[in-house]
Amino acid sequence: MRRIAIVGGGLAGVAAAYFLAEAVKAGAAVEVELFEAGRRLGGIVETVREGGFVVECGPDGWVTEKPWARELAVELGLEDEMIFSLDEGRKTYVWLNGRLEPIPDGMRMMVPVDVAAVEASSLFSEAAVTAYRDEVGRAEELRTGAPDVDESVAAFVERHFGGEVLERIAAPLLSGVFGGDVKTLSARAVMPIFVAMEQEFGSLIVALQSKADKAQKPIFTSLKAGVGELLERMVAEIPLHWVRMNETVKRLEQDEVGWRVGTAVGNTRFDVVLLATPVDVAQRLMQPLDRRAAELMEMEASSAVVVAFCFLAPLDLPPGFGFLVPPGQGSLLMACTFTDQKYPNRVPPGGRMVRAFFGGAAAERLMRCGNDEIAAVARLELGQILGALPEPVLTVVRRWPHSLPQYAVGHLERMTELDGRVGRLTGLHLLGNGYRGVGLPDLIRDGRRMVSKLTQDA
Ligand SMILES: Cc1cc2nc3c(=O)[nH]c(=O)nc-3n(C[C@H](O)[C@H](O)[C@H](O)COP(=O)(O)OP(=O)(O)OC[C@H]3O[C@@H](n4cnc5c(N)ncnc54)[C@H](O)[C@@H]3O)c2cc1C
Repeated sequence: MRRIAIVGGGLAGVAAAYFLAEAVKAGAAVEVELFEAGRRLGGIVETVREGGFVVECGPDGWVTEKPWARELAVELGLEDEMIFSLDEGRKTYVWLNGRLEPIPDGMRMMVPVDVAAVEASSLFSEAAVTAYRDEVGRAEELRTGAPDVDESVAAFVERHFGGEVLERIAAPLLSGVFGGDVKTLSARAVMPIFVAMEQEFGSLIVALQSKADKAQKPIFTSLKAGVGELLERMVAEIPLHWVRMNETVKRLEQDEVGWRVGTAVGNTRFDVVLLATPVDVAQRLMQPLDRRAAELMEMEASSAVVVAFCFLAPLDLPPGFGFLVPPGQGSLLMACTFTDQKYPNRVPPGGRMVRAFFGGAAAERLMRCGNDEIAAVARLELGQILGALPEPVLTVVRRWPHSLPQYAVGHLERMTELDGRVGRLTGLHLLGNGYRGVGLPDLIRDGRRMVSKLTQDA
């Protein structure tokens, strides 16, 4: 019987445990223990349900284009529970010079399918519109000049559209997902689709036009009872005796016969360890095993603070999904979601919900405040942009320290080297959001692949 330890019970660890439980049902001879330091499984994935409100404390859905979360939801019997973003009303604003300026329709991140859309927009200056127009004509120059090494997101976007587009859309869109600074983030790791488009077409606008999907799918998918449902369904399939809550793994040791996983309770022997903690914890556990591997795992991770306000009172919001705040616009906020305008099934009749998101330095500072203080700051900051808010019937505050790992320039090369080094530590594998993607679908794909490989080898 092969003994497998999973360290960390966030989505990555729980998905691995679920796939292993399914493998056992199919006859795999494995025994599993899942160590979770906290009192709750799910890590950043958490849904609070109260008074008819479905409040997402972390992820509120996943990108529909990536199939792996959907496949899992179907497998878990959640096909009829899936809901989709209300794309007919899709509009996102940018808080700019004291106004909410809508991002033009038909944009894929900072790239328009049709330049006419940016020409009609008040978000960009004439110089930025000219940069958009010119990008199409520069296709050949951009294609042949595409660098054959990684570069920063800032450099990539600036080469195509200039600094204003970087500052006003690309930076706020990306820093909400990947944390950190666009001057440091890796273009290849963070926007591989655009990098591939550049290599094929030069111009990203031309590439989008040629690839325009006629049968457009809704951009985001979620579940009626919240993303937490995905997690709860998986947990329900994991044998109870596999789960060791409130057990922090403090050390990992390898010897001739396998692995010793050390907690305050003692050491337990395993043949395989799936390390699914946040990358900073994994990095510390790796340090005594392979210093170079630990060095490769060193990365900045920014913190996030989420504050959801639920109302049972009228609230006049602009139509759309919410807004982003570029740096230097006089607000501490990074973004805000108009939750009940983005997804159905989030509020009771007559209910409204907005969710404020703080990142970077503002999140670091707020992290140290109490819940009431954080909520007061969020209310004030939202009020400055949206006007006075009614009294909420429910307020949910969550702090997610160092939760958004930053994939810096050269990330893919570092991960290739890391894979090679970890490969030599027979039986140790890395899962989680520090390596091959931060989104829920990426983590689910990785967990499934890992378990399939492990159980084939078994
Ligand atoms: C605010 C926010 C919003 C997001 N929104 C989206 C979204 O809409 N869509 C999307 O696809 N993605 C989103 N993401 C990204 C996604 O939620 C995360 O990448 C993902 O949930 C991370 O899962 P994980 O299992 O890798 O890590 P975590 O969720 O961090 O889980 C790690 C677990 O390990 C445990 N642990 C730590 N140390 C130890 C130890 N020593 N021993 C045992 N256990 C330990 C922790 O307690 C935790 O439970 C968002 C992220 C944030 C922060």
